[in-house]
Amino acid sequence: MVHELVVTARRALLPEGWQAVEIGVDDGTITALAPYGAGLQGRQTRELREGQVLLPGLVDTHVHVNEPGRTEWEGFASATRAAAAGGVTTIVDMPLNSIPPTVDPEALQIKQAAAAASAHVDVGFWGGAVPGNGEQLRPLHERGVFGFKCFLEDSGVEEFPPLEPAEMEEDMAILAELGSMMIVHAEDHDTLAQAPGAQGRRYEDFLRSRPREAENVAIRAVIDAARRTGARAHILHLSSADALPEIRQARAEGVKLTVETCPHYLVLAAEEIGDGATTHKCCPPIREASNQHALWEGLREGLIDCVVSDHSPSTAELKLLDVGDFGAAWGGISSLQLGLPLVWSEARARGLELEQVVGWMSSAPADLAGLSDKGRLAEGKSADMVIFSPEQSWSVEVDSLWHRNKVSAYDGRDLVGVVESTLLRGEQIDFETPRGRLISRVDAKPAGA
Ligand SMILES: [Zn+2]
Repeated sequence: MVHELVVTARRALLPEGWQAVEIGVDDGTITALAPYGAGLQGRQTRELREGQVLLPGLVDTHVHVNEPGRTEWEGFASATRAAAAGGVTTIVDMPLNSIPPTVDPEALQIKQAAAAASAHVDVGFWGGAVPGNGEQLRPLHERGVFGFKCFLEDSGVEEFPPLEPAEMEEDMAILAELGSMMIVHAEDHDTLAQAPGAQGRRYEDFLRSRPREAENVAIRAVIDAARRTGARAHILHLSSADALPEIRQARAEGVKLTVETCPHYLVLAAEEIGDGATTHKCCPPIREASNQHALWEGLREGLIDCVVSDHSPSTAELKLLDVGDFGAAWGGISSLQLGLPLVWSEARARGLELEQVVGWMSSAPADLAGLSDKGRLAEGKSADMVIFSPEQSWSVEVDSLWHRNKVSAYDGRDLVGVVESTLLRGEQIDFETPRGRLISRVDAKPAGA
């Protein structure tokens, strides 16, 4: 048979490992995998050059798009162009910072309509669990959200208030029944309330205002609620490596717990952050180099499952770059486009392999969300692919990034690994014609299908 497209690569990352292959694509799906040289026929062909490798499209399950309502912070067109340029072919949007937040089916519909019009990659949605919306969890679940996000500390926007730990547990009991999951911004409100304030330009003061203990206490509450309700729980953006032993123990006990961390915790360290550098403000905060090292050990051990961006932009004004006040600046780092080269550069320096990085950034987040046709180059899967030059060096220039507000904690940083092109369902993303689709838990194919 003649395939619509045949991609030929001397190095392609398959679930079995690196192989020299020819991949046939039809109707956006991988329909054939043959050894390199087999001579698959395609109406279109694409042969990777020397030094390039073929990877599955990355899946980023932690993105704040903010449209509608705060589209001046970030919108679907700009966010998904940044995603595509970074090799990300699927994003799952967080329920807050847009207005409305995704806390009922009507809001979900509004967000889906915004994404459908302009997305360059596939887009799915998390729902939100806020005080008083317990009755919305089932209808949101039935309409295909991948799970529910809650905060245990102020979220930064007033329309998305936090839950008390007891409310979180009540909601988790509902989610256990539905077979859904709770994903948690785990910083404990009371612990933070007792910590010193964050006002001023000193990074040290900001770090002291968000102590590790706040994360440790909140993570303990999540583990306890997951144990008691039987619900799946997921720790978002783990920064405090102190929590790893308890995570290890909970998982050994059989608590249904997964964990993610983010590029900024893995490549930036508190010691390097200058006073007033509010580009680097995020919550929980970037901690010391010793903590960063322990997070890498957590990844190596498999205690941390995924690395996702927590891309959370605002306007440049709200980052207060001129004043540099860590207390007042918006907390959030934009890295949707940079995740793969950031994490790969650091992993490579630590003697880790590219296949591990891709596992954390593609198959693991796909598994987290239950996206069984994403995250792997295999027959029957969506033909989402990235052509990557892992040994090529480059420097980040903030003005050449695609996200809406040209602020970056990585401007000027030297990296290794260039995303050359990104294919969504076998078509190269061209940044002009939005070909992304809405995805939902409801249409996610069952595992093995
Ligand atoms: Zn976030």
